[in-house]
Amino acid sequence: MNERETLKINSNGVLEIGGVDAVSLVKQYQTPLYVMDKAYIKSICNVYVNTIKDFYGDGAVAYASKAFSCKEIYRIMKDSSMSIDVVSAGELYTALSVGFPAEKIYFHGNNKSFFELDLAVKNNVGTIVLDAYQEADILNDICEKYNKTQNVLIRTNPGIEAHTHHYIQTAKIDSKFGFSISNLEALEMVKYALNKKNLKLKGLHCHIGSQIFEKKSFELAVEKMTDFYLKIKNVLNYEFEVLNLGGGFGVYYTDEDEKLSVTDYAEYIKTIAKKLNDCVIKKGIKKPYLVIEPGRSIVGEAGVTLYTVGNIKTIPKVKNYLSVDGGMFDNPRFALYSAKYTVKIANRMLDKPEKYYTVSGKCCESGDIIAENCYLPTVKSGDIVATFSTGAYNYSMASNYNRNLVPPVVMVENGKSYYAVKPQTLEDLLRNDV
Ligand SMILES: *Cc1c(COP(=O)(O)O)cnc(C)c1O
Repeated sequence: MNERETLKINSNGVLEIGGVDAVSLVKQYQTPLYVMDKAYIKSICNVYVNTIKDFYGDGAVAYASKAFSCKEIYRIMKDSSMSIDVVSAGELYTALSVGFPAEKIYFHGNNKSFFELDLAVKNNVGTIVLDAYQEADILNDICEKYNKTQNVLIRTNPGIEAHTHHYIQTAKIDSKFGFSISNLEALEMVKYALNKKNLKLKGLHCHIGSQIFEKKSFELAVEKMTDFYLKIKNVLNYEFEVLNLGGGFGVYYTDEDEKLSVTDYAEYIKTIAKKLNDCVIKKGIKKPYLVIEPGRSIVGEAGVTLYTVGNIKTIPKVKNYLSVDGGMFDNPRFALYSAKYTVKIANRMLDKPEKYYTVSGKCCESGDIIAENCYLPTVKSGDIVATFSTGAYNYSMASNYNRNLVPPVVMVENGKSYYAVKPQTLEDLLRNDV
């Protein structure tokens, strides 16, 4: 647990998030429950926005909303002067539904459908990030139909292996995403897009991976991307105006990760800003509008999932299973890629740990696990289990597997709480069944 003013243990030894204790949250909302610390989300947005302004100048912070998408998070982003990135019609539609300004939206995806591109153009989405020749063709046709010119970026691959889990890396040469800048792929795509009458190519995008603590990898990305900007200037006599460096800043899950405070995240931006300023001067290229796209670092540590302990099963000389009323339907990340989490007993935070438990879910899969080797006080049925850093890629990856209901999301701030997403009902499960 990465303690802070809005995530701490209160005087009764109970976990407190945003000034509300976990026991009263469970009493009011039941479990499983996603809890989001709104003050944390707002303050980290603030740090990103201000650091870019103070240390670089013209730029934008686009919240990568695949990390956690619902109406309320887009309202918070709008109020925090953020841009956003979306990767589907669903995310786009949700953002637009609360009046998120279309010009501040970046639309990504390696296989956007005609419907999605059409929806984006029709609604004046600011920037579409191209990931294929066919996409440039289709998008140009759509723009012609509406008599519009669309700002675009091209997704590129600078070939950097950022240190992270294999399956959540996206920027290796073997990737379904982007055009490689190390061979002629990206250069050819740039030429192609420049010839599209209704597309305005503003610059390039790259995203080197996720859960990255190594700031050097972002410096390397800046170095390689600005080398390529210079090459475009020399070869095509064209100067890009925008550089989008993606997201990927790491968050604390377990003691294997660094514990950063909100203000520590400014260091990522400062590192990028300094390197980019240096490269622009050294290479004699136009200073680009800088876009970064953090997702996990904005919402990840803001989230805590609360469960109630059900059955406890001890297999002598093997292990202790502690089953909770959630599982891979609210958090599939262990099942997907063995993601690790810190788990505590929220109603007895100060009790001495005594035993190791595997925290398992209630789905019919042996791989339905939340966390392994959790060192906890002797657990009783009815205790409240808290999993930390579940704000990113949990609710957004939730499913109705086994026809379980997706848990509600509650925002907490200054001792108050409210639904951001209401609980699903059994009726909701039948809504589309014929
Ligand atoms: C996933 C993604 C991000 C955000 O990554 P985080 O690790 O959540 O910060 C940003 N940009 C693109 C294109 C992405 O696919």
